[in-house]
Amino acid sequence: MEAAAQSPDFEALRAAMVREQLIARGIKDQRVLQAMARLERERFVPEAYQAYAYADHPVPIGEGQTISQPYIVAYMLQVLTLRGSERVLEIGTGSGYQTALLCLLAAEVISIERLETLSAQAAERLAALGLTNYRLIVGDGALGAPSFAPYQAITVGAAATHIPQALIAQLAEGGRMVIPVREPDKPDEQVLVYVLRTRWRVRTRKLCHVRFVPLISDQAATNQEH
Ligand code: SAH
Repeated sequence: MEAAAQSPDFEALRAAMVREQLIARGIKDQRVLQAMARLERERFVPEAYQAYAYADHPVPIGEGQTISQPYIVAYMLQVLTLRGSERVLEIGTGSGYQTALLCLLAAEVISIERLETLSAQAAERLAALGLTNYRLIVGDGALGAPSFAPYQAITVGAAATHIPQALIAQLAEGGRMVIPVREPDKPDEQVLVYVLRTRWRVRTRKLCHVRFVPLISDQAATNQEH
């Protein structure tokens, strides 16, 4: 009884998060709002941080990594304008929270994580939710996953020093990517960059300043399916 009395009312916290952190700050994509209103974020947050599952900041998930702040997840998903038919590539599976949202918003998700333990935990969580339209890969996301390309959308959850050429090459015509990029002369600053590949060219646009863990890339690696 005591434990039950102490456990937070996650449903209420989730509704408040959608209202106060997402809608109030301008997230308008109804599919994104519905998916985030439905998905239990507490499943992706370690036991010790359950009270912060819906907090307005990143939360540690082990291995020195974090689950992104709800608003930034919503913002990146909104920018990708997913309609349900897309094949999406995600770099940095992390907790698997955004992976699960992508499963709800797109047709198929390929997600790459360099840390085996995080990928394995994410795999358990996604399976427990009954999701089936994803594939997790352990390896260097900077290489992408060329065997499943092209992708209508690519989302990168760790800050790169530059936009990896392999990812641009794996974008479909009309494909869009969101990626945090470190500013070369200001190492502490990162900008979220939107990339749109059209038939003839690749357009990039800076969206806003962000703070992500670094993308750790070993370009010589080859990726292994989980
Ligand atoms: N969206 C995730 C956040 C992940 S944090 C979530 O909500 O949980 C970023 C993740 O990127 C970390 O798990 C980190 O291990 C991973 N990462 C860093 N560099 C990478 C690389 N080169 N390839 C794949 N994953 C990488």
